[in-house]
Amino acid sequence: MRLANGSRVVIVGGGPAGSFCALQLLAGAKQLGLHLEVAIYEGRDFSRPGPGGCNKCAGVLSSSLIEQMRSIGLSIPPELVQARLNSYMLHFSSRMLQVERQPEQAQILSVYRGSGPRLDKGDLERSFDAWLLEQACQAGATLKRQQVEGVSPGEQPVVKTSKETFRADLVVIASGVNSRSPLDPAWGYSPPRCEVMAQNEIASLGTPLDEVVHIYFRQPAGLLFGALVPKGKFMNISLLGEQLPPRAVEKFLDFHSIVQGGQPLELQKPPLLCGCNPKVAIGAAKGYYNDRMVVIGDAAVTRLYKNGIGSAFTTAAAAARCAVQCGVGKVEFERKYRPVCEGIDRDNRYGHLLFEIWKSMRDRPLFRRCWQNALEAEENRPPSQQIHRSILWHMFTGDRSYQQIFWQTMSVSALLALARGAA
Ligand SMILES: Cc1cc2nc3c(=O)[nH]c(=O)nc-3n(C[C@H](O)[C@H](O)[C@H](O)COP(=O)(O)OP(=O)(O)OC[C@H]3O[C@@H](n4cnc5c(N)ncnc54)[C@H](O)[C@@H]3O)c2cc1C
Repeated sequence: MRLANGSRVVIVGGGPAGSFCALQLLAGAKQLGLHLEVAIYEGRDFSRPGPGGCNKCAGVLSSSLIEQMRSIGLSIPPELVQARLNSYMLHFSSRMLQVERQPEQAQILSVYRGSGPRLDKGDLERSFDAWLLEQACQAGATLKRQQVEGVSPGEQPVVKTSKETFRADLVVIASGVNSRSPLDPAWGYSPPRCEVMAQNEIASLGTPLDEVVHIYFRQPAGLLFGALVPKGKFMNISLLGEQLPPRAVEKFLDFHSIVQGGQPLELQKPPLLCGCNPKVAIGAAKGYYNDRMVVIGDAAVTRLYKNGIGSAFTTAAAAARCAVQCGVGKVEFERKYRPVCEGIDRDNRYGHLLFEIWKSMRDRPLFRRCWQNALEAEENRPPSQQIHRSILWHMFTGDRSYQQIFWQTMSVSALLALARGAA
């Protein structure tokens, strides 16, 4: 089962996974002198403000993703960049601690996935997803502004939209986890396990391009961490946790004294300008490939809580490589694509362990104090001796694998630093 000249490839979903896949399918086919008809089906218009035109995320692009994008000739235009992030300010109950990017650590950026908050009265923001989709279309993909209603198996998969029903040589499902999967149950696909998160946006009181991400650990119940990410005129509030309560963002703002522009400000409840409760995948899907069908991005597997757009790139690249170079049968995807997804899933097991350690730290004051002391003691040390700060930097930016971070956390020097913190 191989793609041939004129083969019809349908990509369901024009988020990052769909666009990255189109770009890499077309580039790979070009190298082999193969002409493919690649169509991306996307119901959303990313030039609209608010949740309807947005793929609902904090929009932090890790340094590893920026590198991956460069490797395929994509560099992010400056007008898309809402902030260049250089440090994380951690807010504990009684103290604050800043973890700064070291000169050798690459920069991370924040962008809008849609065109900004729903209630913004100013100019629309430039959307990362819209730009990425444009790149895919410029490379030769066709954008169809339609929702795919169903994809059923057959000798060639049958794709059904509200306007047409047709057969495809390959269907790539990049529909994320925030919509119902269009795959017919006969494919045997089951989506990943998900948690529901909370997000909103407030006006920024800091300087434009404020480069500090603020991280909070307490309240509302179930919170793993809450992040305030600067984005030009606004700040994105993203709460990640387990079974967050209703009105989580309001409860979060009620509890915390939000710090912006370096000054703690008891905000008199800033007006909330947007608001959504997106799902985030915390496990891997089952049955995510078959003859002439492959699932990529969040709908297959993603890195736990961080750098989901980076995982979308990785899975899209692996599926596209397999389809162009090896074939589009179940056997080929099993051999060439599955190991990549399993690698992400395996790494997430270290991620789950790290978040368990994190929760014990959060819930045990003595343990937390040792850790805070270890972090404070590192303040004036050379970067090579700032082991706990480096662990936190990699945890938040998602620019190292969880396995690497786990072993860094378990290293003799990290444990000795904790012991000194206890002393
Ligand atoms: C609160 C929160 C914060 C996050 N923060 C970050 C972050 O800072 N950095 C980061 O890298 N990741 C972050 N993520 C994860 C990131 O959003 C996802 O990993 C990423 O968007 C996955 O890309 P995707 O293309 O697989 O799916 P999506 O971005 O969800 O795109 C799927 C697309 O498919 C379309 N679609 C669905 N069904 C159909 C259909 N039947 N027909 C046509 N189109 C369809 C949808 O309209 C959508 O555009 C965050 C997630 C959450 C929930």
